[in-house]
Amino acid sequence: MLFPEFAHPTLIGIAKEAAASELLEAKARVRYFELPTRRFLSPVRSKRVPFCWSINPYRGCEFGCRYCYARYTHEFMELRESSQFEEMIFAKQFDEAAFRRELRSTARHESIAIGTGTDPYQPAERRFGVTRQILEVLAGEKGRRISLVTKSDLVARDALLFQTISRSNILHVNITITTLDEWLARLLETWAPRPALRVAAVRALAEAGIHVGVLPNPIVPLITDSEENLDSVAAAAAQAGAESFGGGVLFLKPCSRRVFLPFLAEHFPHLLRRYRERYEKSGFLCGSYTDTIRERVHRVRQRHGLMSGGANYEPELWEGEPQLELFDVREWDGDTLCPISSKNIR
Ligand code: SF4
Repeated sequence: MLFPEFAHPTLIGIAKEAAASELLEAKARVRYFELPTRRFLSPVRSKRVPFCWSINPYRGCEFGCRYCYARYTHEFMELRESSQFEEMIFAKQFDEAAFRRELRSTARHESIAIGTGTDPYQPAERRFGVTRQILEVLAGEKGRRISLVTKSDLVARDALLFQTISRSNILHVNITITTLDEWLARLLETWAPRPALRVAAVRALAEAGIHVGVLPNPIVPLITDSEENLDSVAAAAAQAGAESFGGGVLFLKPCSRRVFLPFLAEHFPHLLRRYRERYEKSGFLCGSYTDTIRERVHRVRQRHGLMSGGANYEPELWEGEPQLELFDVREWDGDTLCPISSKNIR
């Protein structure tokens, strides 16, 4: 079915498939589509992250955080208006047999991260359950290293499934909480679950024995970067049973600048000039400010007895490589490239 947004005869590849996707549901603000998907596992070649493969069950994210860096992914479907990223959500059509074949073609020591681009527990998950179907397959795996990140309390729904996965794989679940301030969270992450609900999800997972961490990501300069704010999030995380806490400073890709700078102009106009200066040359900040934040996060973590990454534990039914070869994220210096075998790079 073609929609006005897609009325272009020269579309190819994923843009053409998106254009042909059937409209399944149109809520007041959001429309859901289903998208044929050839691969669920995407190779990751960045030195900045400690995983080798990523899985994102949905394209677009209804939470619509003002700082979101994933908006550019809609541009591959020729959907270039920033609002389309949060209002046109594509659920990837799940093919269990194909996903199992993909898994067989990856080495077990190559870590898999779920939700690196868009949120795997956004509201679409209640209807499509793509994340759950993926987890059900992973529950039958052994010796894998799996992590998942979300901003949604819906993650607690799958606590039993996480227990099963954790018995024979190393699993870490991370929940993003940038602030406990409900007003500020509503401004920055308008449609995401309230911080208190996310803390409750941390508690529910920790009580189920899942290794869970909290990420105050992104740390937003001059808005969420104070020691007081980071400390309050870390304190709530520790009290809820999280074992780790760690985060990085906001980076602004061109797609996120287009949304974030007008947002600043409206809500924090006094910060606009400083942001323009700081992010003028690059979307990534570096130098003394990032050093200060790194030290601040370290201090806060120490104060609340939290680790920087998930615990390096050996599952009860572990059948992977010897424990000595496990990748310890606590030691990760940001420069280690994950071992991606060339046959897996497509
Ligand atoms: S939850 Fe994550 S993916 Fe979704 S809008 Fe927010 S930052 Fe983007």
